[in-house]
Amino acid sequence: MSLSDLPPLRESLEAYGLVANKGFGQHFLLDLNITRKIARLAGAGKDTVVIEVGPGPGGLTRALLETGARVIAVEKDARFLPLLQTIADAAEGRLVVVHADALVVDEAALIAEHGAGLAPRIVANLPYNVGTPLLIKWLTGPFRPEAMALMFQKEVAERIVAGVGDDAYGRLAVISQALCEAAIVMSLPARAFTPPPKVDSAVVSLTPRPERPRDALIAALERVTAAAFGQRRKMLRSSLKALGGAELCDAAGLEPDRRAETVPIAGFLALAEATIARG
Ligand code: SAM
Repeated sequence: MSLSDLPPLRESLEAYGLVANKGFGQHFLLDLNITRKIARLAGAGKDTVVIEVGPGPGGLTRALLETGARVIAVEKDARFLPLLQTIADAAEGRLVVVHADALVVDEAALIAEHGAGLAPRIVANLPYNVGTPLLIKWLTGPFRPEAMALMFQKEVAERIVAGVGDDAYGRLAVISQALCEAAIVMSLPARAFTPPPKVDSAVVSLTPRPERPRDALIAALERVTAAAFGQRRKMLRSSLKALGGAELCDAAGLEPDRRAETVPIAGFLALAEATIARG
């Protein structure tokens, strides 16, 4: 059987007696027109290897494979493995299914084993309950994807792309945008999913900046943003007290009476540099 001969996704779910388990954040995309659009927006193609988290019934997996990409699909729910194997059989060796928790998987090792020489990307309709920790892992961890296209709850997507002064501007925006160009590239209503979640969703495209801050600066940025946005209504002099307060702000060229939500990303990077300089 080839990819184009696979049955509709709904039929596959029925044939394997699979129903969504909320504990795994399962909301499926069963319309291949939608998953094909995501695969296209994600830039998947012959020269890419895609890590997909949570393939579930495989709608996005199938669309990614259709582009010619090699796919490494990491699924935690063992119930889906037999169905996913039928897709692997149709994909002529281009799909590897890994039964694991994506939070602890070593992406670089997977790429070295199954996709060496290809440009790595991460593409996923993420389980809502672990979307943010996975994003932080991919932003700050040792694995360096060339690009990511990730489906989040709309509210989380807005927090990733928010600009200084926006209500949604916070830690996630600063860390994401200090490391990547980030933009919402597609919005989807809740009814596009089976079963529908309570909220709408959006796909965020994240492209790492060519000049990645060094690891020590990223770690310092995480500390500074945690303190500043942990008490976002307070002035920096008091929210950053434990890290140096007003003196730290002076060293970073920022007025100590500012609040975190008014500080642009460059300001947070300056604060992070200043904490390193203070030792
Ligand atoms: N990609 C499928 C689609 O678009 O129809 C399913 C998306 S569903 C929102 C999330 C998927 O992630 C489910 O298949 C779920 O079992 C899986 N999942 C949940 N937590 C996971 C984890 N920690 N590691 C890997 N997969 C996980």
